[in-house]
Amino acid sequence: MRVIVLGAGLLGATSAYYLQQLGHEVTVIDRQATPAAETSFANGGQISVSHAEPWANPGAPLKLLQWLGREDAPLLLRLRADPGQWLWGLRFLRECTPARTRRNIEQIVRLGSYSRSVLQQLRRDTGIAYDQRTQGILHFYTTPREFDAALKPAEQMRALGCERRVISADEAVRIEPALAAIRPRLAGATYTAEDESGDANRFARELARLCEAAGVRFLMSHTVTALREAGGRIDHVEATDGEGRFRRIRGDAYVLALGALSPVHAAPLGIRLPIYPAKGYSVTMPVKDAAKAHQVSLTDDEYKLVFSRLTGPDEGGLPRRDMLRIAGTAELSGYDRDLNRVRCEAIVRRVEALFPGAGDASQAQFWTGLRPATPSNVPIIGTSRVPNLYLNTGHGTLGWTHACGSGKSIARIVSGLAPEVDFAFAGPPAATPRRLAAA
Ligand SMILES: Cc1cc2nc3c(=O)[nH]c(=O)nc-3n(C[C@H](O)[C@H](O)[C@H](O)COP(=O)(O)OP(=O)(O)OC[C@H]3O[C@@H](n4cnc5c(N)ncnc54)[C@H](O)[C@@H]3O)c2cc1C
Repeated sequence: MRVIVLGAGLLGATSAYYLQQLGHEVTVIDRQATPAAETSFANGGQISVSHAEPWANPGAPLKLLQWLGREDAPLLLRLRADPGQWLWGLRFLRECTPARTRRNIEQIVRLGSYSRSVLQQLRRDTGIAYDQRTQGILHFYTTPREFDAALKPAEQMRALGCERRVISADEAVRIEPALAAIRPRLAGATYTAEDESGDANRFARELARLCEAAGVRFLMSHTVTALREAGGRIDHVEATDGEGRFRRIRGDAYVLALGALSPVHAAPLGIRLPIYPAKGYSVTMPVKDAAKAHQVSLTDDEYKLVFSRLTGPDEGGLPRRDMLRIAGTAELSGYDRDLNRVRCEAIVRRVEALFPGAGDASQAQFWTGLRPATPSNVPIIGTSRVPNLYLNTGHGTLGWTHACGSGKSIARIVSGLAPEVDFAFAGPPAATPRRLAAA
């Protein structure tokens, strides 16, 4: 089949790879000049099955109220005259019940565990390199209240097969000696040895290179303007190329992976995707003192930040780079990607308070990206009302963690094969080939 993948972010790139592996003729369309240039550009770098507790959880409504109007809040809601934002907000509140939170954690852990194993298989098959580290992920807590709140979700994750162990402050420092600087303030920690980290952008670009070598066509600098329907199916995609020329691109099947922009292109087809952009920030700075810098990828749940160490060859081969990447926080304020100085400074302050002297903040690079967030944090993968339009979008905070598993699953669904993971795929169950039991 000729399959058109819309979007060359992490989700588009992994969809294209697995579709090509299953023998399809694949074309990827993206408005940027290079793959993974939008939300997949400078994320937190974590492959974190253990980060399965969604933002929507029983403690969230109160925290959101307390943070309302605070410029440096980890999760900031800027209320706008935007019905889409209000509707999303109401759905978010509905997802905060204990029962829904449990159900969402279950979906997120299942897809995450599967996806991590698919990524590991991909590494074995291709030797793909992206500054990966396989030293696990450590969640640390500097207040007893936050630590206590993490225990129940961690227990549920363990019951689902994600080995997120509760550890003492001393053990946390043994696993990550850079935490010694804040040992007196550590209330506790959890550690998931199987989790990983690395440079998601490098991963996506390397994967796109492998795809190209295998015959996948990339139409970069092509902006999709419409998906046109005829006879109840998508007939073609309309786009403008880099020179502004109008183009019609035809395939037998289409995979929608336009990240935060997916709902904008699905809506004219009568497909309402509950996705709203959740702006996140990242800071990347060179390591100044390697002994003070963390090696293990870390999560600071209280401040909604993740920390990764990216060590690898610079673009062009030399010299080796050694960077700290700190990413997170969320701002629900529509599609603007402006850098808010207050929020950037709040992240740098937290980094310096936790790991004084580790990074060179004077050379910090700041970035924002729009997470395609669903109210439940469960992504939308599967079929749609239009028989030849497939969805692989809405991955929110965990788009890299879930990328390989989502890409492989959508490729199998497009091919009429059963997905390998028991997950609530989108669309009528009859349209998805019979699922296998949990992988
Ligand atoms: C601060 C931050 C930290 C994060 N940290 C992590 C982490 O540690 N671990 C993790 O698992 N996830 C993390 N995420 C989430 C993850 O980065 C995203 O879920 C993921 O990048 C989404 O990928 P995507 O392919 O859906 O979207 P994108 O990467 O945005 O890809 C969509 C593509 O569609 C293209 N496009 C859009 N509109 C058009 C159009 N009209 N025509 C043509 N092309 C178009 C864009 O150019 C883009 O390349 C983080 C996100 C942020 C913002």
